Amino acid sequence: MSSYDVIVIGSGPGGYVAAIRCAQLGLSVACVEGRETLGGTCLNVGCIPSKALLHASHMLHEAEHNFADMGLKGKSPSVDWKQMLAYKDSTIETNTKGIEFLFKKNKIDWLKGWGSIPEAGKVKVGDDVHDAKNIIIATGSEPSSLPGVEVDEKTVVTSTGALELGKVPRTMVVIGAGVIGLELGSVYARLGTEVTVIEYLDAITPGMDPEVQKTFQRMLKKQGLKFIMGAAVQGTEALKTKAKVTYKLRKDDSEETLDADVVLVATGRKPYHDGLGLDALGIEVSKRGQIAVNDHWETSVKGIYAIGDAIDGPMLAHKAEDEGMAAAATIAGQHGHVNYGVIPGVIYTHPEVANVGETEATLKEAGRAYKVGKFSFMGNARAKAVHAGDGFVKILADKETDRILGCHIIGPGAGDLIHEVCVAMEFGASAEDLAMTCHAHPTYSEAVREAALACGDGAIHM
Ligand code: FAD
Repeated sequence: MSSYDVIVIGSGPGGYVAAIRCAQLGLSVACVEGRETLGGTCLNVGCIPSKALLHASHMLHEAEHNFADMGLKGKSPSVDWKQMLAYKDSTIETNTKGIEFLFKKNKIDWLKGWGSIPEAGKVKVGDDVHDAKNIIIATGSEPSSLPGVEVDEKTVVTSTGALELGKVPRTMVVIGAGVIGLELGSVYARLGTEVTVIEYLDAITPGMDPEVQKTFQRMLKKQGLKFIMGAAVQGTEALKTKAKVTYKLRKDDSEETLDADVVLVATGRKPYHDGLGLDALGIEVSKRGQIAVNDHWETSVKGIYAIGDAIDGPMLAHKAEDEGMAAAATIAGQHGHVNYGVIPGVIYTHPEVANVGETEATLKEAGRAYKVGKFSFMGNARAKAVHAGDGFVKILADKETDRILGCHIIGPGAGDLIHEVCVAMEFGASAEDLAMTCHAHPTYSEAVREAALACGDGAIHM
């Protein structure tokens, strides 16, 4: 048995970042992880493996669609799926080993096994009970499913199974047109799978700017993805080598079925905190399973904190990381801070989609007067040079003060471009501030500046 200032349960981006920050602030720290490797969902079965497959499949797409036009002739590459999975696995390994290195460097003990909290101030791992002045719960989330949908991770899979299929399927049905479904759907579509996405709502990526939603769906259709919108999945049936999906169209209640080699259930994720003993401790949990915390990420039990996917808010790695740093600062007696109004969201398809802050819908709902500055990548020389002129940047600014309130980008490098707007928003900048900032030519970020210019006297290249 050992004694620590802080024990973090879970080593995902929330947990490992919290542990490192606690150590940097001079606290003695241990991190409990039940998986074989550190890094949580994000590094093992989430952000990182999906990006590796998105990258590899995008290379193939470029070779097949754009190489010849650029004067690069010859046979396009064929897919060695085993090798692609090996590349993905090696990417995971370098990242998870990197966290192990950082733990050693910061003298953080990795307590291997599944942890529980028998009482405040104690964490049990296996037969050992450790003392902890503070506990941070960072146990993340797990895929959620639908009634009637039985996941076997072979023919009916979650994102975890979709990252390690035995072969590239001929056909795939993706249930849910959210971020994870569209990213993984894109991967397989580029590898030659016939992908059909079934979505309950009438638009993809719920909550996003409607213009982005429409443009994004049009682009994905061009890449071969098919969509069945306004359809409520009733259930799946796993056959020997296939699965059957039954759905009802909301417009007329008619029932249809669809066969596919693989069905990917991408209907969201739910907080995971099984086996921690939250009930016995009296820790409040919402109806949706999120651990309730106050403004300092402290649960209803003093000295027990919770962060990341296990609590309310967007289920994103960087949100978990920010909460990890903030909770660590709070425990160390500093001021922990997360600006929930400036958390970017990115979809790593091609092109990328990114957003931050308000949408036109949320501004209308709040009755706030705003102006829109929009710029198409067709007016951006660099984008046109690399076959990436489709898409746009849209900046929303307060009508009176010109303060930037939100930004929505679909186009090349959107996931990186969004951050100059995030920084501007953190500093309370106006659209004019962005527009007056010199941007290097030729870069994609000139499109952001042009959108800012469009909030004022007008964009130059439109
Ligand atoms: P997690 O990363 O879920 O980590 C929790 C860890 O706690 C796990 O390792 C688990 O084993 C461990 N654990 C749980 N209970 C116990 C216990 N009792 N004892 C010991 N250990 C325990 N987000 C992005 O921002 N960008 C992306 O591109 C992105 N892509 C994604 C793609 C996919 C396919 C998926 C599934 C998710 C993706 N996400 C992405 C979401 C992101 O992975 C999560 O938001 C993030 O991992 C949450 O971090 P966390 O630290 O809260 O929890």
